[in-house]
Amino acid sequence: MDVKSMSGIEKLLYIIENMKRLESDITLFSSREFKTFYHAMKHDMYDKVLLFLPTTPAKFLKLLEHPLEAWGYFSKEEITSLEEDGVPSDLRIIDGDNGLNEEIEEEVLLAKESLREQRSGAVAKAIEYIRQKIKVDNTDYDWQQQYIDFRHFLTMNPVMNTIKRNRLIEHFDAKLQSFLISCYESIPSQAKYICPYCGWTVMQTEKLKLKCIKLACKAHFNLATLESIPRKCDIRLKETIQLTTVIPTKTEFEFYDMLLKIPEKPSVFWYPEVERKGSL
Ligand SMILES: [Zn+2]
Repeated sequence: MDVKSMSGIEKLLYIIENMKRLESDITLFSSREFKTFYHAMKHDMYDKVLLFLPTTPAKFLKLLEHPLEAWGYFSKEEITSLEEDGVPSDLRIIDGDNGLNEEIEEEVLLAKESLREQRSGAVAKAIEYIRQKIKVDNTDYDWQQQYIDFRHFLTMNPVMNTIKRNRLIEHFDAKLQSFLISCYESIPSQAKYICPYCGWTVMQTEKLKLKCIKLACKAHFNLATLESIPRKCDIRLKETIQLTTVIPTKTEFEFYDMLLKIPEKPSVFWYPEVERKGSL
């Protein structure tokens, strides 16, 4: 297993999957499989400045009790990108005496789905579709603009009414319309409010805690300031779309506005050549 070539999230998933296997059967600790995992990790760790060296498998497990950002293993860029995927930098994989952190399941599941979304979800498919169209379409149809509109539509409408959405997307190419529709789901009954930070839904958990998609959202609301979801709204974006497309696009909006305020007025283009350098 070549851990070096993995992205931050892939590394984390690799570690967690092995830890879950170990938790389900502790005798695996002395197995060849666990040793292979430990050596692959150690190999990728030796040139980094770590909190301490995991010279034995037991020491490696000890490292997992610390917040991700404290290990010294994940680079700053990896930590930032993990946070963008919904994994907090202070996540501890092992929770002291309690074993594998219970919250990890939820965090990792979401991160895993987001990874899948970035590779093969509706937005990735739309990008691929538009790229193909640009290559073969000789008409004046502005596919580049369709992509900008596609992405901006999602960002402006995280919570919607089905009939209104269907009406507003009529000007899109038929295939893009179907991609847009597949980005939405029904609003679940636990979702009660609109998040003033990202525009998505704030859920009320069983323990009556309020929760949106990112930890950063929480700093922007409390029970007194939250507004209910308008009654006419019946759909919202799927969690992974909100996380992988809307939140990054919001930052792009802020950046765009900032650039336009520069007196020399630079030429600013949205997504030149439809995300030539990446899938999202
Ligand atoms: Zn939010």
